[in-house]
Amino acid sequence: MEFTILPVTPYQQNCSLVWDADGRAALIDPGGEAARLLGEVQSRGLALEKILLTHGHLDHVGAAVELRETLGIPIVGPQREEQFWLDLLPQQAELFGFPPAVAFTPDQWLSDGDRVDVGAIRFDVLHCPGHTPGHIVFYQPDARLAFVGDVLFKGSIGRTDFPRGDHAALIAAIREKLFPLGDDVRFVPGHGAMSTFGHERLENPFVAQSAD
Ligand SMILES: [Zn+2]
Repeated sequence: MEFTILPVTPYQQNCSLVWDADGRAALIDPGGEAARLLGEVQSRGLALEKILLTHGHLDHVGAAVELRETLGIPIVGPQREEQFWLDLLPQQAELFGFPPAVAFTPDQWLSDGDRVDVGAIRFDVLHCPGHTPGHIVFYQPDARLAFVGDVLFKGSIGRTDFPRGDHAALIAAIREKLFPLGDDVRFVPGHGAMSTFGHERLENPFVAQSAD
């Protein structure tokens, strides 16, 4: 698997483009700038198969509908508890000063333990609620790489002060689902720099073992 990170929107949300050896590709969390993202796909000669979403916040999904309509490809994920955030997209756009957005429903919801294939790439799906109730993480075991959205950041964790946020659930998801994948596993967060679960387990003040 190859991948590149393409920050989009004024929030510099990390959209990830992933592809296999045959150029079969997916965009994870296309938060905006659909035309630019399509240009990145085309300049690499890739064939986009799917749009994968970690959760329903506008800065992660803002280009999803336009890409679906332009290319006729499915939107896959997040977990179905996220529909209420997707229904609120028009209000989110107003609140955060984004261009108008429409509510939508993905073509496929995902659940904990599901597998998603992008060409020859397999992702394991982990339901990690807390930042939002239907938030999922995409984990690629061969590359030992996870796309974690707004669950975990280098040195921080996702906000839980939104409606239906749950701080305890977020901490539990990070400690009981993500960290056991292994200290060497690298992750792409929804914002900011990459890190490893091992580094966060030791150094992240919100979830390090010494934080108890
Ligand atoms: Zn978010």
